[in-house]
Amino acid sequence: MFNSKKFKGNKFKYVIYYSLLAVIIVFIVNEYSSQLKYEHIKYSDFINYINQNKISNVQISKDRLIITPKDKDTAHKGKILYTERVDDQNLIKKLNDAKVQYEGVSQESSLMRSLFTNWILPLSIIMFFGSILMGRLDKKMGSGVMSFGKNTAKIYAENETGVNFSDVAGQEEAKESLIEIVDFLHNSQKYVSIGAKLPKGALLVGPPGTGKTLLAKAVAGEAKVPFFSISGSAFVEMFVGMGASRVRDLFKQAQEKAPCIVFIDEIDAIGKSRGGNVSGNDEREQTLNQLLAEMDGFDSSKGVVILAATNRPEVLDKALLRPGRFDRRVIVDRPDLKGRESILKVHTKGVKVSEDVDLNSIAKSTPGAVGADLANMINEAALRAVKNGREEVIQEDLEESVEVVMAGKEKKDRILSDAEKRAVAFHEVGHALVAALLKHTDPVHKITIVPRTMGALGYTMQLPTEEKYLVSKEEMIDKICVMLGGRSAEEVELNSISTGASNDIERATETARSMVTMYGMTDRFDMMGLESIKDRYLDGRPVQNCSAETAAIIDDETLNIIKECHEKARSIIKENKDLLIKISESLIEKETLMGEEFMDIIKEYNDKKQETQDTKL
Ligand code: ADP
Repeated sequence: MFNSKKFKGNKFKYVIYYSLLAVIIVFIVNEYSSQLKYEHIKYSDFINYINQNKISNVQISKDRLIITPKDKDTAHKGKILYTERVDDQNLIKKLNDAKVQYEGVSQESSLMRSLFTNWILPLSIIMFFGSILMGRLDKKMGSGVMSFGKNTAKIYAENETGVNFSDVAGQEEAKESLIEIVDFLHNSQKYVSIGAKLPKGALLVGPPGTGKTLLAKAVAGEAKVPFFSISGSAFVEMFVGMGASRVRDLFKQAQEKAPCIVFIDEIDAIGKSRGGNVSGNDEREQTLNQLLAEMDGFDSSKGVVILAATNRPEVLDKALLRPGRFDRRVIVDRPDLKGRESILKVHTKGVKVSEDVDLNSIAKSTPGAVGADLANMINEAALRAVKNGREEVIQEDLEESVEVVMAGKEKKDRILSDAEKRAVAFHEVGHALVAALLKHTDPVHKITIVPRTMGALGYTMQLPTEEKYLVSKEEMIDKICVMLGGRSAEEVELNSISTGASNDIERATETARSMVTMYGMTDRFDMMGLESIKDRYLDGRPVQNCSAETAAIIDDETLNIIKECHEKARSIIKENKDLLIKISESLIEKETLMGEEFMDIIKEYNDKKQETQDTKL
């Protein structure tokens, strides 16, 4: 646990302020209470009171007389009186005559007593409570979160992250690149003595949720060094100069704790390219300049390594990427089938799962999912198991949680009318039938007409038999046919069309357009590139780079592909209308059909057809 120097300095200041405040409070209270308790009188009044027999006791010190009146309800409201001692030879006689009790008190002892009761005791009590309060504050500040700079930005600091490379699954290449950094942090002397320049920083690039933060923590965990983490956006504030001072602070603290890892998440928030920004952003530029200056300035042989993460590497300023700064780039991409399976394995470690759980099939059904999605799925499955009163997670829990993460929860309270249900069933079976009857398609895994919260009234799930890295033109065409199969079935059987195909239309158009603009799959444009992908690690938006005239032709070509595929899907459905009706009826009855049930119906139907043909012959 760290205690920042800054806080220690502040603490000293707080103690001074607090003590001053305590003294002032005690002074005011003393003044006030002595005014309430004592009253000054003239010596002549004192003599008068003796003569009038109004006094019961007098304490005589070197220069004061403290007088206790007999009757508490006198004009002095029961207060104790005092007056200065004057040179009165007859005082003792007067007291004796009036039968007043008197005693002498030493000046020192009365001073000591009042010092103790009026000052030392109350101040000690106040300081005691103050120290308890301070201790609490201290604990809070030392628990890993520190105030950073003169502002509210938070840097998270951990002495031991407790994360190892074994906790990060499916990112073998990334781990390999980072092992070197671990070794360097472990044995920096080995590198220094041979004269090697040590790496200052590495940039982790990849889509959100693929484990970049986790990897950075694992590097710190493996090297057993402290881990500082701050988000790039925390540097940028409204006030110019604030971000730069934070950068300075960060590097100062990191060097004090060396060897250590400093992790800057979302570095694109400060590291955006400086040129071409018309409006200009002084604060961001200053912060970036400071970061560059600090990276150049610090001595890497001390063992400070800066890791930064981004999912938009293309917007980063080139200056950040040159040697001596973030000169290493580690790609942390979406995991493949094997990667997904091992991530699932890592996350099921702490969860009780049944022995017959098949993580491979779950990995197969989650193409495109990142580590964070998979971790979420395992958790959803565990929650479902508890909800259903089970003590361990079974395959069904996992399969359901995949669907929850991908399509949302089942919406049982959404009641479809019979006509709507029929339309949805025919639509979904349309997709499934085209998928089953075309050659270059993935097998159907499940068809369902149970509505889900993410908008789908039903869906057909296809699962690839193996992970594919290349997609052929035939496969793309067949994929579009499957997407358009839903609407085709509505047309053929119901003679009416509905809004249910909007998502299919969007996806089919996107696929057809990419065939024209990016994959060179039309004769018209041959191998000309007309679009490129922006923000590859985020949503992967295509950006057109062609003239408006060409764009119009692209639209024509796209339309041609779609029309062709629609026609193909429609004719398949027409030819197999009986089968469509049979499967749809079964789906309306059961609401969900698994891949095998679906294939069994097709097989049974084909066998029967064959039989009748044989008997006719
Ligand atoms: P990023 O920084 O890339 O956005 P994180 O590192 O924050 O992603 O990942 C979020 C969570 O997802 C992690 O805490 C972890 O539980 C899980 N996760 C992501 N990738 C992996 C992986 N490769 N192996 C194991 N868990 C992972």
